Amino acid sequence: MRRPAALAALLLLTACSPGGCGQTATTPEKKADAPAPGDPTPDPGPATPPAPTPVSWPHDGGGALYPGSGSGATDATLWAVGMRFPMEAGPAYANSQVYGYGGFAAPGPGGQCDARNYSYPWRDNFCETRSWTNGMCPAGKGHQGQDIRPATCEKKVHWVVAAEKGRITSIGSYTVTVLGDSGRIYRYLHMDMPGVNAMFPNEASRAVTRGQRIGKVSADFGGSATTIHLHFEIKAPVSNGSGATVMFVPTYSSLVDSYGRLLNGAG
Ligand SMILES: [Zn+2]
Repeated sequence: MRRPAALAALLLLTACSPGGCGQTATTPEKKADAPAPGDPTPDPGPATPPAPTPVSWPHDGGGALYPGSGSGATDATLWAVGMRFPMEAGPAYANSQVYGYGGFAAPGPGGQCDARNYSYPWRDNFCETRSWTNGMCPAGKGHQGQDIRPATCEKKVHWVVAAEKGRITSIGSYTVTVLGDSGRIYRYLHMDMPGVNAMFPNEASRAVTRGQRIGKVSADFGGSATTIHLHFEIKAPVSNGSGATVMFVPTYSSLVDSYGRLLNGAG
């Protein structure tokens, strides 16, 4: 028997709840069959090992300088994505060779080999007070790079490596410059320079691969000496509105990123 149209409409309306029409009752989820007595134990498949906990190390944030040593960069850009940490092996200690123990503005008595210089936390010193032009710092001047101490307070022991594939374009009295294939420029100061010159005696020898040894940490300073450390700089094109200017860029975030990969075996 056909229902009158009005009754069909009424039935349709009553199928609508305040939450909406067309909702249907939930079908109970179908359960897998329970194994019958005597069934072989199902193979669970290969066990998935738990993910290892990433190795970390204490490090202050970018721009957090030693108190009284300047105003840090607020820029947190990762300027050198994927670069190799510039020392071959850890541990290494990013801090300040001027404001650390044994430096000109040391916080107290102690020599450069003081254990407090060879310990964490890391600290940024890209914008540390200097008279050098540094356009990425609040003062427009600053240190231009980051000081990094090697694992131990020894010269000519700890290898420094190329941050990326490229070419050594200059070997000065205490500065080695690498132009990376990305266009970024890396500068390494205070290595053992006789050793560097022996490794790269001519133009033909100066192509480098990412991670290639380029020298050893020392204290060379063009005839005088500094403390044992690597001063590391990155220069990159920075947009100025109408184009780009190649300038010193904050190094700290790239060092944190690359050191984290090194510690976790993904250098
Ligand atoms: Zn320095």
